[in-house]
Amino acid sequence: MLKVVKFGGSSLASAAQFAKVGDIIRADESRKFVVPSAPGKRNSKDTKVTDMLYKCYAKAEADEDFKDVLKKIKERYNSIINGLNLNLSLEDEFKTIEKNFKAKAGSDYAASRGEYLNGIIMANYLGYEFIDAATVIFFDEDGNFDAEKTDKVMSARLAEVEKAVVPGFYGAMPDGSIKTFSRGGSDITGSIVSKAVHASVYENWTDVSGCLVADPRIIKDAKPIKVITYRELRELSYMGASVLHEDAIFPVRHAGIPINIKNTNAPEDDGTMIVANTVQKAEYTITGIAGKKGFVAVSIDKDMMNAEVGFCRKALSAFEDNGISIEHMPSGIDTMTVFVHQEEFEGKEQQVISSIRRNCNPDVIDLEADLALIAVVGRGMRSTRGTAGRIFSALAHANINVKMIDQGSSELNIIIGVSNNDFDNAIKAIYDIFVETQI
Ligand code: ASP
Repeated sequence: MLKVVKFGGSSLASAAQFAKVGDIIRADESRKFVVPSAPGKRNSKDTKVTDMLYKCYAKAEADEDFKDVLKKIKERYNSIINGLNLNLSLEDEFKTIEKNFKAKAGSDYAASRGEYLNGIIMANYLGYEFIDAATVIFFDEDGNFDAEKTDKVMSARLAEVEKAVVPGFYGAMPDGSIKTFSRGGSDITGSIVSKAVHASVYENWTDVSGCLVADPRIIKDAKPIKVITYRELRELSYMGASVLHEDAIFPVRHAGIPINIKNTNAPEDDGTMIVANTVQKAEYTITGIAGKKGFVAVSIDKDMMNAEVGFCRKALSAFEDNGISIEHMPSGIDTMTVFVHQEEFEGKEQQVISSIRRNCNPDVIDLEADLALIAVVGRGMRSTRGTAGRIFSALAHANINVKMIDQGSSELNIIIGVSNNDFDNAIKAIYDIFVETQI
């Protein structure tokens, strides 16, 4: 058994949290590779160290005095070091950071120091080797993650050590400069390390006991999901469920390594297992519900559209030419509707409309804004009749007007479009029918 364990910012926000993490790691010999985030918030009013670093660097870049902010960051680390009674000083590291900030080393470099320093503390605390992520994670010239080179170099390097700490969130560009993943990217590092060492499981430790069937801000006491497949999770995280960075799935998915989401504050809870495949039935017909607000529906009508070869392609190229990504595209016989992000679309709407007119000369173009999309996801839907019927009768009972329905051919998800104002109530109605009352 070999486990890679990644700890999120709230799990490492203070010495007390570090101590819990130490107990978790020491409780299981197979937890040999550790990926830490930067210290997160200690309470709801606190600031993440990553955000402090961005702020500090913005001052440095503007040639303003950044010493005070840097001092506050140093204090956060020192309170962890002192609270754990470690014999460690980060003085020299902070001198280097200050020098590099003055030399304008870049905001990615700045942000990455959060994980880098926390990694040094973690390695010292556990007695594990520290491996700088810049020596084992690589990006290509265009700034895309270089999976091949990373896997080769990282597997060779990690094979030399028994136990190690690899800080999350960053790697190196071909010229050696530091680049980070997008926010929350330590999850990706954990996944890459898991693949490189062929871990039996990738444990991702956070402050909730796994994924929940629905957003707890909308459904109080939402039920946890015990087992979910990568595909289901991908659908849910794309639609806004935020327990794991959406790109963290890919490296382990290819290697077939399960991810276990666990809670640092309640380590005995099972959490959620994310797996490639399972014969375990989900507890409910649906595995989860997630959604996003802020879409516009662009409906394009033209008589005999279905007989006109290339109509859809011409209409869609109007979006592509204006750099607008398309979210969903339900269609009728003489009509097609394109769902796009309102924020992206607003500034360019007139250009897009005139391009559509030019490209395919439609009869009518209709716009409807302030829409929300809700994804109801579940492998259990494939083998159950009447799921769609239950969803729509629940929505009808809740007086919610359904604007769009799209069921993927995989039968893994049903996407429903409603007005932004109906978003919360729609999720409540669907949750209620499948999880609470189960009728
Ligand atoms: N510290 C980074 C952030 O706040 C990365 C991470 O925590 O995963 O986004």
